[in-house]
Amino acid sequence: MEDTLARLDALMNRLIEADQTASEIEPLEIANELGTIRAALMTAPAVVPRSGGERHFRCDACGTIVHGTAAPKACPRCQKTVFHPADIVE
Ligand SMILES: [Zn+2]
Repeated sequence: MEDTLARLDALMNRLIEADQTASEIEPLEIANELGTIRAALMTAPAVVPRSGGERHFRCDACGTIVHGTAAPKACPRCQKTVFHPADIVE
């Protein structure tokens, strides 16, 4: 997670620097880096598991976290169906 935030900071600094120096940036390269950062954030553990065996799942599309013994069939917020485990392993 810290590594991902460092990548995000580095990317923001590059964009600011490009703006200040009017230097060329490669939009596709930026998009690729953002995609990598997004994937890392979506799979990053974020929630301490509840007692009683319930787990947490993060919606890949909107980031909503749902708890339960298994991933829900669909996200209650956006209705998408791809989830990543979000529990912090202690
Ligand atoms: Zn969702």
